[in-house]
Amino acid sequence: MRIVKKLRLGILGSRGRMGQALIERVGDRSESFVIAAQWDRTSTDEAIAQESKGCDVVVDFSSPEALHRFLRISHPVSLVTGTTGLHPKTVAALKKWATKKPTLSSPNFSLGVHLVSLMLESVSQRWAPLGFSASLVETHHTQKKDSPSGTALRLAQDMRLDRSRIASHRVGNVLGVHEIFFESQLEQIRVRHEARDRKVFAEGALHVAAWLFKSRKKRKPGKLFTFDDFFMSLKMEKQS
Ligand code: NAD
Repeated sequence: MRIVKKLRLGILGSRGRMGQALIERVGDRSESFVIAAQWDRTSTDEAIAQESKGCDVVVDFSSPEALHRFLRISHPVSLVTGTTGLHPKTVAALKKWATKKPTLSSPNFSLGVHLVSLMLESVSQRWAPLGFSASLVETHHTQKKDSPSGTALRLAQDMRLDRSRIASHRVGNVLGVHEIFFESQLEQIRVRHEARDRKVFAEGALHVAAWLFKSRKKRKPGKLFTFDDFFMSLKMEKQS
């Protein structure tokens, strides 16, 4: 009988919307994952420092402050972070962490958003010379703290759109809608992505955690990975 080792996960921000979605998803995938530790606001520095030693990968959906604190106090451990709105000093701390342990940071763990990103990249140098103007509208729930969303900033960068062309709306319980418009006098193109369930981000985070852990020996620590690195590896695996 082949015994498959389950990936031991630590969850930072475990009581939040994404933390709860992740815990539910781990329950569905209990043949591959087990929760080794959960931390939220009431967790002490000592608990995080001690319990992180028992984790293969920590998945973070918390806040920029919680992540910064984690990087200061935790045992060095592989880290997947989805927290958005990071301060440059936290990005610098993440880059330093990546020199010790495999680390990946992404504002969006949905495969669909990354397909949209590829589409936009492929027209990034063409829409303006062809006479189109472009804009991006993102809509999220009212509890979302950062604005524009990290995903909107990333998509704008892909299509070479100035940040001033992003409009942000905060409405009800909307999980995340990103719409891109290209307009000329006679036509309009609209590309729309809608997240229908938080599970999409939770599932993506679990895929990334497994990928980061599996490939930890192949890649020397150093680079702060993005979802693109994972996404490109998927393409390669499927082609080979
Ligand atoms: P949330 O507010 O529901 O949850 C955040 C959790 O972190 C809460 O339980 C809160 O108590 C905890 N927390 C906050 N500050 C803390 C601190 N200083 N110490 C310890 N715990 C602390 O938010 P959410 O909707 O779950 O989103 C969390 C983060 O994930 C946000 O930055 C959001 O933008 C991001 N997000 C990313 C993706 C992605 O695919 N990468 C998807 C959805 C949300």
